[in-house]
Amino acid sequence: MGGFSGCSGYAVPESLNRIEISLPALCHNFILLKEKAAGRPVLAMVKADAYGHGMIECAKVLAAAGVDCFGVAEAVEGVQLRRHGIELPVLVMAGILPEIIADLFAYRLTPVVVDGSCLNVLSEQAVKHNQEIDLHLKVDAGMGRQGCLPEDMGTVLKRIQELPGLKLAGIMAHFPMADDPDSDSSNEITELFCRKLDAVRDLLPENLLVHLANSGGILYFPDSHRDMIRPGIALYGYYPDGRRGVENGRKPRLEPVMRFSSRIIQVKDVPGGTGLGYGHIFTTERPARIAIIPAGYEDGYLRSLSNTAQALVHGRRVPVVGRISMNLTMLDVTDLTDVLAGEEVVLLGCQGDNEITADEIAAWMDTINYEVLCLFGNLNNRVYVGG
Ligand SMILES: *Cc1c(COP(=O)(O)O)cnc(C)c1O
Repeated sequence: MGGFSGCSGYAVPESLNRIEISLPALCHNFILLKEKAAGRPVLAMVKADAYGHGMIECAKVLAAAGVDCFGVAEAVEGVQLRRHGIELPVLVMAGILPEIIADLFAYRLTPVVVDGSCLNVLSEQAVKHNQEIDLHLKVDAGMGRQGCLPEDMGTVLKRIQELPGLKLAGIMAHFPMADDPDSDSSNEITELFCRKLDAVRDLLPENLLVHLANSGGILYFPDSHRDMIRPGIALYGYYPDGRRGVENGRKPRLEPVMRFSSRIIQVKDVPGGTGLGYGHIFTTERPARIAIIPAGYEDGYLRSLSNTAQALVHGRRVPVVGRISMNLTMLDVTDLTDVLAGEEVVLLGCQGDNEITADEIAAWMDTINYEVLCLFGNLNNRVYVGG
C-alpha cells in the first residue's frame, strides 16, 4: 500500500495477491441473460462494487454491451458511475433520505421510494429545478423487508400522482426465495403483486415498468420477468442456488468472472510431528513440504477456511493446513514435485484443468457465493483481462 512515490519513475510494487476479472466472461453472461429477457430491458445490479468485480469497469463493459440501466444500493455509488461517464439510468435501491435528494438531481439518479416520506422533498426540488423526476416504488409483496405493504400502495400512488414534478416510472418487488427452484414462493409473490397492481390500475401511469426478477427469478421463474429483469449474481457467473445450479446443469451455462491468485513466497520441508502456525491446529503426520502464500483473512481468505480449504498449485488440488492468519496461509504440497517460490497459487478459479469455484469456497466458509465474491473482490487488487 502507498509507498514512496515522490520520485518519478518509481513504480509501487503490486500485491502478490491478485483478482483477475474476465471481461469476456462478464459479456458472455450478460448476453445469455439478455436472451432470457427476450427484448425486455435489463437492469444490471452493480451494488457492492459489482459484487466485488469493480463497479466502474463492469458498468462500462455492460453499457457497451447494451445493458439498459444500473442498480446500486446508495446514491454515492450512482455519483461514482456518473463521474466516470456512465449516462444510463441508475436506480438507487436503498437509502433515500431527504439530505441526499439534492444529489439525485445533481447526478440525475433515479430514486426507489418505499413509502410517502420523501415525496414532498422530491417534489419541491423537482419544481425548483423545473424538472420531472422519474421514480420507482418498491413494494414489499412477500419479501418481508424493505418496501411499502401492498395495502398501502394506493395511498403512496395517489400522493405521487398529486405532487408536481414526480413521474412514476416503475414499480418493483423482490423475492425472498427465488434461489430455490422448487419453492412456490416466487410464483405466488408474482401473482399477488400483479393482482394488487390490477386493483390500483387507475392510479398507474402508462408505460410503467413492473419488475421483480433477480437472478433466481430470471433463471427459474419466467412468469416473473414482466417488463424488466434485474440480474446480479448471474452476471458474475454464479447461480443463486450455488452448486445446485451447476450440478443440475442449468441453462444458460454461466461463466465465473473472478479468479483469485497468489504466489508462493516460501517452500519449506518440515519433519513429521511439526505443529504448524497459530494454535498448532495442524500437526504433520509425515515429513512434509509446506508452501506459504502471502494471503490471509485480511484479503478475505477467512480464518474459517483454516485446515479446510483447498487451493491449486501446478493445476492440482492441495489442502490448506493450519490456521489462516492475517497475511499468511500454508499449503501442504508434499505430493507435488518441484514446487518453487514465486509460483502461482490459485485460491478461486481455474489453473490447468482444475477449478475451485466460489460455491465450493462458500461451502467451506458456511456462506453463499455472493459473500465470497464480495470479500475477495473488494479486499484485493483487481486486474481486468480480455477487455
Ligand atoms: C441485489 C438485488 C438484485 C440482484 O439479486 P441477485 O440474486 O444477485 O440476482 C435484484 N433486485 C434487487 C432489489 C436487489 O437488491
